[in-house]
Amino acid sequence: MLSTLASPHPCTNRPSLPFPLRFAPPPFLYPSRHRLSVRSCHVSPTSPPNSRPSLSLSQSNFHSPPPPTTLKIAIIGFGNFGQFLAKYFSQQGHTILAHSRTDYSSIANSLDNTFFFKDPHDLCESHPDVVLLCTSILSAQKVLGSIPIQRLRRSTLFVDVLSVKEFPRSILLNRLPPDFDILCTHPMFGPESGKYGWNGLPFVYEKVRVGGSHERVSRCEAFLDIFRKEGCRMINMSCKEHDEIAAECQFLTHTVGRVLAELKLKPNPDDSLGYDTLFQLIENTCSDSFELYNGLFMYNKNSTDLLDRIYAAYEEVKKELRRMVQGILRRRLFGTTGVGELEDSAARCEAFLESFNKEMVDLDENAAGVHFVALTTGMILAKLGLKPTSIATKGYETLLKLVEDTSSESFDLYIALFMHIRNSNELLDQLDISLAKVRTELYGRLHDILRRQLFDQQGIINNVHN
Ligand code: NAP
Repeated sequence: MLSTLASPHPCTNRPSLPFPLRFAPPPFLYPSRHRLSVRSCHVSPTSPPNSRPSLSLSQSNFHSPPPPTTLKIAIIGFGNFGQFLAKYFSQQGHTILAHSRTDYSSIANSLDNTFFFKDPHDLCESHPDVVLLCTSILSAQKVLGSIPIQRLRRSTLFVDVLSVKEFPRSILLNRLPPDFDILCTHPMFGPESGKYGWNGLPFVYEKVRVGGSHERVSRCEAFLDIFRKEGCRMINMSCKEHDEIAAECQFLTHTVGRVLAELKLKPNPDDSLGYDTLFQLIENTCSDSFELYNGLFMYNKNSTDLLDRIYAAYEEVKKELRRMVQGILRRRLFGTTGVGELEDSAARCEAFLESFNKEMVDLDENAAGVHFVALTTGMILAKLGLKPTSIATKGYETLLKLVEDTSSESFDLYIALFMHIRNSNELLDQLDISLAKVRTELYGRLHDILRRQLFDQQGIINNVHN
């Protein structure tokens, strides 16, 4: 399509535009639908991807264009997730106009129907049907404020995909004039968890403001159709409800993934223990940026409390473990634990240990370590009282499964593994260190951001640093 243009793609460099974009855009920027006016147009949400709307001409509505079947979608924030979405959008035949802080021209060139704009003014003058805000949570307000919305068509549909929802809803409502439509969404999967397709994965959305005209309603549906066609589980839910349910689950999932990643566990080639999903969780959460994790932390009002609860639950698991080990040892030394309520469980545990040690002499140390860490994590999570939710990500489902598996294993097995593995105390210490490291990093960034805001406002940040 681009080969029809005389020079290299003009959109990437504003001053050298060979044509005045606002008045005579090249053919690819104006789909043919603008040449025909219609009275009615029906696009069924279940229509096949290439079906065309049925058109009926009308003199009265001659200037109202039909709703689009393929959209011109501007993606603002063309990082990890923006590029991932663009691939699917372009495969469905939509045109992507991308803009980001970093120059991603070459990545855009490698995708079908995708054009990178260094200058957001040029992008807006190309009049996208949809502007998709896909920047980090922390930069969203600044980036939204930098979009020259006066160059867009007044009825443009704004969509966001931020992993928290009340915050973008509020900044979009504050920033955009009433003529603009607003759809807040959260595709609850990422480049890793959705790399084999989106079938069955949850997509949460709230139509915050969509004008009543047929064109606006159909445009919003055409955007949602992208996800319907990929088989997403579409969940119409308010931003408030999303944050109440999802914010905590997401933050917890990312925390567990990051803490476990610090342990540098090695997956077993034959994975006889079935912990492949645990390793997937580690991979999925760590392939997302720390900025995303930090956004989940900052925009979830319960996150500091949740971190404290994880710590407390972990301390409790360790206390139970050490109490039992001491009980068994005392029984062996003195024939009693010295604590009434411990007697029976210590005796049972000791018997289990003996049979376990006989049967498991050849236990693979690495596999046992993974099993021990998984059980420890399951016990911590069980103490937090995780609940199933209708909008669970794959990662959160892994956590729920871990809790279920842990509860079906006995505490005796946990003690046996602890005793059998040479470096189990070291593993527990490493968990301590990992938790502390993740927490220090989060609070460090929080401190940094607040400090910048405080000192920047007073114009003294340089003095403080110098
Ligand atoms: P991210 O680290 O949250 O965001 C990266 C994007 O933000 C890049 O486009 C980056 O631009 C831009 N950005 C960061 N700081 C900026 C600043 N100061 N000024 C301007 N732009 C800035 O990682 P992500 O995974 O790509 O996520 C993007 C959005 O999608 C986030 O809001 C996230 O919550 C949401 N989301 C992500 C996932 C996921 O699994 N990854 C799933 C659902 C929703 P440059 O690259 O140009 O620097």
